Amino acid sequence: MQKKNVNNTIDNPAREQRIPVTVLSSKPQSSKIHIRQQKGDFQKIRTGMNSLLVALFFLLPFISYEERQAILFDLNQQQFFFFGTTLWPQDFTILAWVFITAAFLLFFITVFWGRVWCGYLCPQTAWTFIYVWVETRIEGNRNKRFALDKAPWSGDKLKKRLLKHYVWGAVALLTGCGFIAYFVPARELYIDIFSFGASFWVTTWVWFFAICTYLNAGWMREQMCLHCCPYARFQSVMFDSNTKTVTYDAARGENRGPRKRNQALNSANLLAANLEASSTVNAILGDCVDCNLCVEVCPTGIDIRNGLQYECIDCGACVDACNQTMDKFGYQRNLIGYTSENALSGKAEPFYESYKFIGYGIAALLMLTVIVADIYSRSNIELNVIRDRQSLYRETNDATIENSYTLKIRNKTQQTRFYRVYVSGNSGYRLVGQANLKIEPGEQLDYPVTVIATPELLAGARNEITFTIAEQHNYAQASQESSFFAPI
Ligand code: SF4
Ligand code: SF4
Repeated sequence: MQKKNVNNTIDNPAREQRIPVTVLSSKPQSSKIHIRQQKGDFQKIRTGMNSLLVALFFLLPFISYEERQAILFDLNQQQFFFFGTTLWPQDFTILAWVFITAAFLLFFITVFWGRVWCGYLCPQTAWTFIYVWVETRIEGNRNKRFALDKAPWSGDKLKKRLLKHYVWGAVALLTGCGFIAYFVPARELYIDIFSFGASFWVTTWVWFFAICTYLNAGWMREQMCLHCCPYARFQSVMFDSNTKTVTYDAARGENRGPRKRNQALNSANLLAANLEASSTVNAILGDCVDCNLCVEVCPTGIDIRNGLQYECIDCGACVDACNQTMDKFGYQRNLIGYTSENALSGKAEPFYESYKFIGYGIAALLMLTVIVADIYSRSNIELNVIRDRQSLYRETNDATIENSYTLKIRNKTQQTRFYRVYVSGNSGYRLVGQANLKIEPGEQLDYPVTVIATPELLAGARNEITFTIAEQHNYAQASQESSFFAPI
């Protein structure tokens, strides 16, 4: 990367010597953060990704698959429907694998691209920017919002504040509905909530998540990232010298200082200008014009020029703001940019030498393999065989031995299925009663069966017996072994 701006450097040969200069201070930062809205390439990407995330969040529950809500955590039935697949509580290991895989993928991306998750995909960031957008539309830009904060209460201020909180509340209520729509049928939920027809618990949970959204995105905002999010605390462990994260090029930017746009910068007039500002100034300026825009657009209110900070969520707003300033002054872009420590110091960036990168990548691949194996090995039939606890066996009048069992058979699909029951393990076993069964979707059938055997064909007092339930017109089947008892 070229680090020197041509315009600036040619006119300022003394800059090469990096003579210290008194840096004009940044504007004092208010304790309250009002984010200045920023346009730019990274903001387009962020807005696009946030919009996609929000759209998916609200629309996914409305997708139907085989006449049922495609994604639904049905807490009443204790089932999770995901398109054609139904997960039961005993299948939830797969959700654990999914979460572990997502964590490794997040670590893997963090090693390479820093906290892009936080800046571009985290719901906290997405909803905060929605709330800031609403605030800007109603109360005006950053300066107007600061002015409104300071202004005494008036009719206009009250109207703006009421309108803002009303819209924030509406967004929060919709978000609460959006979240609960993953747990109860979505189509009825919105109608029930807005017509006050929802049950007590559904209403309570919707309002609970609505209040959480309102407080998080409206009031707490960056405080969640700074004080509540554990990822912010440990993400630096994953960084190495090749991690690309938002960084200020201090070697190029310092010494920072204001100047007039398009002003020819040479050591003579810079020295003169600075001497007016400070008697200790004795050197030339770097590319940072100290416009403070990078601080004003920052959603966490930090000054990235102070170095890498855990508060930075890598949203790129300061990159766009600084590039805008660089363009105005005719300087090279990326004084603040997504770059690595190695790139800044001119070293090579062999990411394949990063053991963390390779390690997290392998771990993520392994976990993906586990998920595929788990899905592949899952059966849509569940069979449990329970022996009759009342008696080990019964001897019948026609000199045969009888054992009784209860078959607990679960149809884990979302369609009615037909099954056939078999017994095996001895040529003398005979199943008494109906062997063909019909089971409704998601239903568990407790089916009592009796097996008869001829004593001469049995090997001893305890014999192995295998029950098999096979789906008709399909290859799916499940088996379980049990014991068949006979007199010694
Ligand atoms: S936006 Fe760029 S030029 Fe302006 S203060 Fe920040 S680093 Fe300096
Ligand atoms: S310093 Fe602030 S604006 Fe810049 S990337 Fe980090 S969080 Fe975003």
